[in-house]
Amino acid sequence: MVKVVPRTYLIYSFSPDNKPVEKVYPGEIVIFETVDALGGQVRDESTPLTSIDWSRVNPATGPIYIEGVEPGDTLVIDILDIEVEDRAVIVTIPGAGVLGYRDIKPKVKILPIVKGMLYFDNIKLLPKPMIGVIGVAPPSGSIPTGTSGPHGGNMDVVEITRGSRVYLPVFVKGALLALGDLHVLQADGEICVAAAEVSGKVVTKIDVVKGRKPLLPLVETQTYIHVIGYGEDLDEATRRATEVAVQGLMKEYLLSFEEAYMLASLVVDLRINQAVDPAKGVRASIPKNIISIESLLT
Ligand code: CA
Ligand code: CA
Repeated sequence: MVKVVPRTYLIYSFSPDNKPVEKVYPGEIVIFETVDALGGQVRDESTPLTSIDWSRVNPATGPIYIEGVEPGDTLVIDILDIEVEDRAVIVTIPGAGVLGYRDIKPKVKILPIVKGMLYFDNIKLLPKPMIGVIGVAPPSGSIPTGTSGPHGGNMDVVEITRGSRVYLPVFVKGALLALGDLHVLQADGEICVAAAEVSGKVVTKIDVVKGRKPLLPLVETQTYIHVIGYGEDLDEATRRATEVAVQGLMKEYLLSFEEAYMLASLVVDLRINQAVDPAKGVRASIPKNIISIESLLT
């Protein structure tokens, strides 16, 4: 059965106290309708950023309760499809982004999508729709949807795209999954703090691995398993992702730490997810012919 979560159900923080808006069973298809990261508040290029209600940015649609899913399990989300609207928006915000120390003027730009191509003025770009925010409830407290952590959240990983599979650790009964912040296109780093922000729809299939969980969110693509690290800065995010990758290699091949550390140096790529959100993100990308998902679940 297909269930649809409409975009009227939005959250701005991940929390065990959020009331689920839908109940689903493992194996079910769930469609999330999402609102862009600016809360759909930018209508055109004359919209002043001062008119934006910042309490309504970074909405995630949900949360949904998955039956039979408990703390210590892994929630497995297959991204079957991402449909985006035909108009994206990007902004610059004073003080924000990698070059935030510069005198940056607030600016809004509309990026139309015409015949399957994204236009930045007359520069034609190939869309690669992706999900910026996907996460579950943390064990306690409340984590704004604008940041990331072990529960997922605003990871802004370009690999969370059509055909990929996301593994999240479950901290509360039912997991309380929510997602949003679609990008028509983003490059690694998300340099200016925004991407081609867009509203749309995500078709998912939800499943569970009982009794085991990843230490950090994982994203599986055709050729890689990506370990998603987060941190106060890129160094901390890098260390977190690398720790989990090295532990996975130790388990896969029954290696000592030093041996796995060496192997990681040969096969694991470190890449910046984003350098601009409250928690910075780095992924450790391990080729799938080197590691199995089982070695990354504890
Ligand atoms: Ca984001
Ligand atoms: Ca975004």
